[in-house]
Amino acid sequence: MAEVNYNPFENAKAQFDKVADVLEMDEGLRELLREPMKELHFTIPVKMDDGTTKVFKAFRIKHNDARGPAKGGIRFHPHETADTVRALSMWMTWKCAVVDIPLGGGKGGVICDPHNLSLAEQERLCRGYVRQIYNQLGLYLDVPAPDVMTNGQHMLWMLDEYETIMGGRYPSMITGKPVGMGGSLGRTEATGYGVIYVLKDLLREKNIPVESTTASIQGFGNVAEYAARKYTELGGKVIAVSCWNQADGKAYTFKNELGCDIEQLCKIKDSFGSIDTDKAVQMGYELLEGDEWAKQDVDILIPAALENQITPKILPSISPKVKIICEAANGPTTPDCDALICESGITLLPDFLCNAGGVTCSYFEQVQCSMNYFWDKAEVLEKLEYCMTKAFRDVYKLSVEKNLYMRDAAYIIAVNKVANAVKLRGWV
Ligand code: GLU
Repeated sequence: MAEVNYNPFENAKAQFDKVADVLEMDEGLRELLREPMKELHFTIPVKMDDGTTKVFKAFRIKHNDARGPAKGGIRFHPHETADTVRALSMWMTWKCAVVDIPLGGGKGGVICDPHNLSLAEQERLCRGYVRQIYNQLGLYLDVPAPDVMTNGQHMLWMLDEYETIMGGRYPSMITGKPVGMGGSLGRTEATGYGVIYVLKDLLREKNIPVESTTASIQGFGNVAEYAARKYTELGGKVIAVSCWNQADGKAYTFKNELGCDIEQLCKIKDSFGSIDTDKAVQMGYELLEGDEWAKQDVDILIPAALENQITPKILPSISPKVKIICEAANGPTTPDCDALICESGITLLPDFLCNAGGVTCSYFEQVQCSMNYFWDKAEVLEKLEYCMTKAFRDVYKLSVEKNLYMRDAAYIIAVNKVANAVKLRGWV
């Protein structure tokens, strides 16, 4: 975690304010878009396996639904705060807008550490979450999905609770479900693959062959794993992967100059993305502590973990070799780094464009559930790549034409779309 206490919501608002100034936005519209429209803060009592009851704090926040029902994941994390969920819900609004899917922005969270909860306790927590807010969820209201430390099983428990309360089958009320239970093929891979689709497009624009590049990745959860798989499949070489080690509360970087064997690392990681340090050392990986993933001599840095990881403190130790920062996580770079990155000549692929593959595939999942007709994997991935590439081209084109930092170009496109929807509805 970063040492300075960056607040993700302040970061999200600072990014928005910059664009609102460029767009010379009216005061009313600006006020509406810089805050969530609706917030639910609630508690969930859970019967623990030992017979005691534990009360968890939870949130569901809708930033804006002018372009369509709110959409966004539910995160389980011990450091979750209302402001983190506010920021993430706002980023979801821009994310859905930049890839042009007809959805708004929402996000949920529970302050908990699933490492310390049995599966039965996690199931009761999921069901309790839905019981508290089921009347605010649904295909035409707000559609949750997985996020950090939640997965398809959690989504299915939530769906089952919702359907039990509602007395029917409503598979489109939640996405990221297991395949065969209303899930879409390709959804597990979608966010990581989407990251690499836009990276591939950027490399093509820069005339850099993927096979000639190296990368270092922060995180080894779902997004990082599938980004690493797709990147190596295209011929890129992952030199280092970092992850959090729950046992000693430290971050480690696993390095192999010849290229990490992603399949091999997947076999020795747990469901939260922590790689077994002893086994990795036996396999010949160099083990480095702390922020080392960001200091490697690579062409591409892929932060794929949490917010506030690339800060002005770490920026000077980034290698001059780095050409691209590919933001697979939400909000990994603090706003006080943007001007410095822009000056340094590094190209930054902004988070809400780069990691929009997950929600895009969630949208496909909703569509398939609503039709009760499911596409094969090739069709899903083809549609996903089409959406990601189109969004990339729009952002890249604007950034080149107006000589803009790519984050600013993406913001201008997304905020304009949401602002238009708000105006067309007559809200301002
Ligand atoms: N949690 C993911 C994100 O941050 C996916 C959201 C969704 O599929 O709705 O984009």
